[in-house]
Amino acid sequence: MPQAEFAIGRSDGQEEDARLKALASTGILDTAPEANFDAITRLAAEYFKADTVLLGFADESRVWTKSYWGEPVRELPRKQSIFERVLAEDGSVVVPNINDDPEYRERRFPLRRLDPLSFASAPVRTVDGKILGTLTIFSCEPRRAMAVTELRMLESLADIAAGQLELRRLRKALNGNRLRHERTIETVTGIWPRKSDLRQALEKKQFVLYYQPEVELTTRRIIGLEALIRWQHPDRGLIPPMDFIPIAEETGLILPIGDWGLSEACHQMRLWRSEDPEQAGPRVCVNLSARQFSREGLADHVEALLRRTGVSSQQLGLEMTESSLIPDPGTAMEVLGSLRRLGVSLLLDDFGTGYSSLNHLHSLPFDVLKIDRSFVARMTEGEQPLQIVRTIVELARVMGMDVVAEGIETNEQYMLLRRLGCRFGQGYLFSRPEPAETISAMLRLPGRILPDLEAPQAATN
Ligand code: C2E
Ligand code: MG
Ligand code: MG
Repeated sequence: MPQAEFAIGRSDGQEEDARLKALASTGILDTAPEANFDAITRLAAEYFKADTVLLGFADESRVWTKSYWGEPVRELPRKQSIFERVLAEDGSVVVPNINDDPEYRERRFPLRRLDPLSFASAPVRTVDGKILGTLTIFSCEPRRAMAVTELRMLESLADIAAGQLELRRLRKALNGNRLRHERTIETVTGIWPRKSDLRQALEKKQFVLYYQPEVELTTRRIIGLEALIRWQHPDRGLIPPMDFIPIAEETGLILPIGDWGLSEACHQMRLWRSEDPEQAGPRVCVNLSARQFSREGLADHVEALLRRTGVSSQQLGLEMTESSLIPDPGTAMEVLGSLRRLGVSLLLDDFGTGYSSLNHLHSLPFDVLKIDRSFVARMTEGEQPLQIVRTIVELARVMGMDVVAEGIETNEQYMLLRRLGCRFGQGYLFSRPEPAETISAMLRLPGRILPDLEAPQAATN
């Protein structure tokens, strides 16, 4: 196997997308190690008298260890991993003595206590043959060449792991169906809100947009606004989006509601422009849901709206999450490309909560990456969550993307993010989402700089 081919891996884009889709459908990366998988690695360890056994599944950049025997490793870099080699060979790999193998002689394995001298690895495949992970046994001693029956045993154990994975996938699909079914029942049995409630709300113009400032962290200057929908219900008060957007998605009403949101945001931008013609209006970002994103002719629709409202495309941002792109990665690229050509900014929302990684990002034309607020919330808890944020900030910088940290609530988080070189952020520390009139007053502040309410005398850099 030539070095270059091994290092890069064999997976061309489409094959890799199909593999990742199959992996995502099992949900394995979102869960902790499971007893079923531990049983398999223990069995393999005993049968082969191995020092370490590792069962891992790979996304674009990492091999996520879901069960190990002998060595508590969690994640390994995928590049140049055994997984890559199994993928390249499209089958099992046996290396009886690492010192005799040109690929491994120079390389140290990221297993801490162990310096393995031999290993054998079998693919964990889906029913239609895609390799999602590997089951690998390591030994500190060189091993004699592996007998065919032994290799079959390892492959059978990997097949058992594949069986467990398939069960997980079926269970997940079943739960999804049940949830959908329950939702439908709720809708017909009158649990609120029903489709007709949402339709009425639209007709009676009960939806409103609130806006939350995005600020430059060093200066607290407002650089943009995120439009966040609310339902101003006459009896129930202000309803947050998570209480009705999922139902709107399911019933298809998200399309007219989303159209209303986009057009309302554009009208508001025009208004802010006219209130202060001297300054460029702030960029306003609107959230798009999966259904809106996969709608035919989205770019044409946005273009027509911009023309109708006389708003420049540079002023509009569209936010979407990884999960809304997944159903069809090929089309996602096309749609993102056409939006990009219009000149609107594209923001990847809630980054870190989906399954794709920074490697995958490289091929998608996003301008801004928004770090999910769960990472920001955990940042102050220890080195590992901090390291995740540091890595995201650093890699985004290398890829020439801006980073916005979401959900900044405390000064400590704010200071840490600044120290990490994160340029932009939003969160309650600066401002909650507010109605347009309150935002108008903020936009009139000198330099659009938000006051530091916690520590008025704080440092200026
Ligand atoms: P998102 O796009 O990730 O929006 C950020 C959410 O975080 C907002 O919740 C915002 O109020 C909240 N947030 C901001 N700063 C902080 C903070 O410091 N601490 C905490 N705990 N939360 C903070 P909101 O407004 O409830 O919106 C929830 C989600 O609903 C949004 O998440 C977005 O996915 C969706 N959404 C909102 N408006 C629309 C819309 O017009 N269309 C669609 N399709 N989805 C929308
Ligand atoms: Mg958002
Ligand atoms: Mg978000």
